[in-house]
Amino acid sequence: MTARERFSEWTLRADPKVGVGHVGRCLICWEPCVDTPSADQARDWCLKHVDSTGHDSFTLTAEEFFDAILTDHPSVNGTSPT
Ligand SMILES: [Zn+2]
Repeated sequence: MTARERFSEWTLRADPKVGVGHVGRCLICWEPCVDTPSADQARDWCLKHVDSTGHDSFTLTAEEFFDAILTDHPSVNGTSPT
């Protein structure tokens, strides 16, 4: 295979500085809780919200940030790129 025919291989790497964020959101008034690393904290906000408003329908979303990097990148395998 020539260099021209070679395909790049990519991998995804989670950004450890950001981590996973969780947001609970009321589906009645669309109010969200603060973005938190804890899913339990987001659920607790939903319970407090239903207690104070009577709104009883929610979503919980998790968001994680990734970088896409070449698998032959030195930060992945410790070798020099070819
Ligand atoms: Zn609400």
